[in-house]
Amino acid sequence: MCIFCKIVNGEIPSKKVYEDDKVLAILDLSQAEKGHTLVIPKAHFDTMLDADSQTVSHAFEVASKLANKIKTNLNADGINILNNSYEAAGQTVMHMHIHIIPRYKNDDLKIEFTDHSSLYNLDDVLAEINK
Ligand code: AMP
Ligand code: ZN
Repeated sequence: MCIFCKIVNGEIPSKKVYEDDKVLAILDLSQAEKGHTLVIPKAHFDTMLDADSQTVSHAFEVASKLANKIKTNLNADGINILNNSYEAAGQTVMHMHIHIIPRYKNDDLKIEFTDHSSLYNLDDVLAEINK
């Protein structure tokens, strides 16, 4: 059984932020920023891409509501909501989860996008996606 299934089953302790019959939200142990929370479907899916659309929708709806609550109550200045799917994208725990990361002015967390647009022709990319 994976580590998040064990948390869902109560075999491993966690700091519970929210729970309903489909999802559990807990504080991330790493606390990339204060209030860093994970929304975890109770059913096991290796990645978000393996999960059914109802599970994905519900998990993101909960993430959106919790993001508002966390932003207000922790006086955050912004929020990153993100999902890593597969190792190449930074996924380390192979049980779908959504990160809610509160952001504070002048915090030192780096989530950066490099501009690689010079490498690609957008029409070619579009055609490849829709082939
Ligand atoms: P990811 O890299 O997207 O797979 O994120 C996995 C996250 O799970 C990391 O931010 C870890 O800090 C977090 N994590 C791992 N084990 C635990 C645990 N037992 N309780 C809470 N968070 C955990
Ligand atoms: Zn699992």
